[in-house]
Amino acid sequence: MQMSNRFPRTRRDVGGDLTRAHALLVQAGLIRQVSPGIWTLLPDGWKVLRNIHQIVFDMMESVGVQNVQLPILQSCDLWEQSGRWQKYIDTKTMFTTSEYHYDAEYGLAPTAEEVVSFTVAGEIESWRDLPVILHQIGPKFRDEIRPRLGLLRGREFYMSDAYSFDRDEEGMRASYQKMKELYPRIYERLGIHKLQAVEASSGDIGGKGSVEFMALNEEVGEDLLMACDECSYGANTEVSAGNVGDVCHECKIGTFKEVRGIEIGHVFQLQQTYSKSMRVTFRDENDTEQFAWMGCYGIGTSRLIQAIVDQNHDDDGIVWPESVAPMFAHIVPVNWKDETQRALAQELYAACQDANIRTMIDDREESAGLKFKDADLLGYPYRIVVGRDAGKGLVEVRNRKTGDVENLAKEHVVKWLKERAPQ
Ligand SMILES: [Zn+2]
Repeated sequence: MQMSNRFPRTRRDVGGDLTRAHALLVQAGLIRQVSPGIWTLLPDGWKVLRNIHQIVFDMMESVGVQNVQLPILQSCDLWEQSGRWQKYIDTKTMFTTSEYHYDAEYGLAPTAEEVVSFTVAGEIESWRDLPVILHQIGPKFRDEIRPRLGLLRGREFYMSDAYSFDRDEEGMRASYQKMKELYPRIYERLGIHKLQAVEASSGDIGGKGSVEFMALNEEVGEDLLMACDECSYGANTEVSAGNVGDVCHECKIGTFKEVRGIEIGHVFQLQQTYSKSMRVTFRDENDTEQFAWMGCYGIGTSRLIQAIVDQNHDDDGIVWPESVAPMFAHIVPVNWKDETQRALAQELYAACQDANIRTMIDDREESAGLKFKDADLLGYPYRIVVGRDAGKGLVEVRNRKTGDVENLAKEHVVKWLKERAPQ
């Protein structure tokens, strides 16, 4: 990609009272608001989201979870079967729409327990068909009364949601445990390094036994938590697990402190709530009909874009983790009008393209200072500066995160980048 073609331009000043991460996403041109809580993801934003999704899909598959795509437009009949249609209307949570040929009602999925239960109920017959865990990533809709904080509280957003079906309570707990252990590994790979698992009140999903995962954030944390400073234990202050300074009852070593966070995931044991209302049954070894035991698991993937930036930026801009960065290398010729610099920059750009390294080249006739400022703002992991040593075939590579600088001969650049690229 050439900087001269990049859509959109970067912005210096975004005005308004935005949080730092929100402002950076607007300045760097990743997101634009269309209506309250409704966003367009621009090329870099969409690329980051696709990178997040690929990691989530791959890690789900690595533990035997199977990826599917459930419909977003969901018939009122299904939601009436679970008894949630009226509830979601009364609480003004769900967007609904009419079908005009037969005057039928539909909801735009805020969650998918009904549809996934319907799907699994139609396929399983015996205990041998269980367990099964299905996972999807897709848009979700929620009628937020006051959308705010950029991608954190939107009306349309992306979620990864998984649902487990087991033959008994023990099986449900095992599936739940598997997902509970997988989630922190996913967050770590995405660059969320300040994470807190929290015992949550389970809201209206209708189960007991749940954990929320919070990206710690002092600036916009929506929820106040009591968290142990030694182990990973934390609790919502509503749950009243203790007071500041109390010794942690999990590890008996740390003490509680107050922290704020952004919810980026949750895992629930649903028990048999939906399998009973949606009739998800199977035959056990004695040929007796039994209801399946379910769990559900969610990761807010579009809000993760903002949570990742929140934990990965500095005074100059975004510092993308390599795993999700929209571009990996950023070639900046100091002076585009200098023929030697321009030729070397173009040669390196072509070599990176051939090696499948996602690369930006700044081909604008702008000052070096402005180009460096943009490179810092965009936050791609490795900058390759082509300057006065271009004639000797030397460039400077700079790590956006550490600021470490190395001088490399042009022949070594691709190999050097390849060694650092995510697998
Ligand atoms: Zn502890």
